[in-house]
Amino acid sequence: MSECLFCRIVAGEVPATVVAETPRTLAFRDIGPQAPTHVLVVPRDHHADAGACADADPALLGEVMAAAVAVARQEGLDGGYRLLTNTGDDGGQTVHHLHVHVLGGRPLGALG
Ligand code: AMP
Ligand code: ZN
Repeated sequence: MSECLFCRIVAGEVPATVVAETPRTLAFRDIGPQAPTHVLVVPRDHHADAGACADADPALLGEVMAAAVAVARQEGLDGGYRLLTNTGDDGGQTVHHLHVHVLGGRPLGALG
């Protein structure tokens, strides 16, 4: 059994509220939402972060971003939204399986 939380969600070993899926990605609601819509989009395959995915399978990084846009549209975020992926310690990454946050449903303001 994997020790990676998001691998375990992909495998169905840890419950999550799935909102969308593609052959190579999964989207589920963040357990601690920071906005009215807060969804995480992950590749089904394990890549530690955006850099690792870009090196190993750059097309997959594109698929994750496209899936995130599809989630934003599905969630009706017509007023705009934010896609972000924290990378490494300085980036504030806490789960080391690539994930793109889809945030929206209220004005998000400036970064920082
Ligand atoms: P990051 O800090 O960018 O690595 O984001 C990790 C995100 O994973 C945080 O926003 C957490 O709220 C979220 N998270 C942690 N555990 C779970 C879980 N079991 N299901 C859904 N989201 C989770
Ligand atoms: Zn993983």
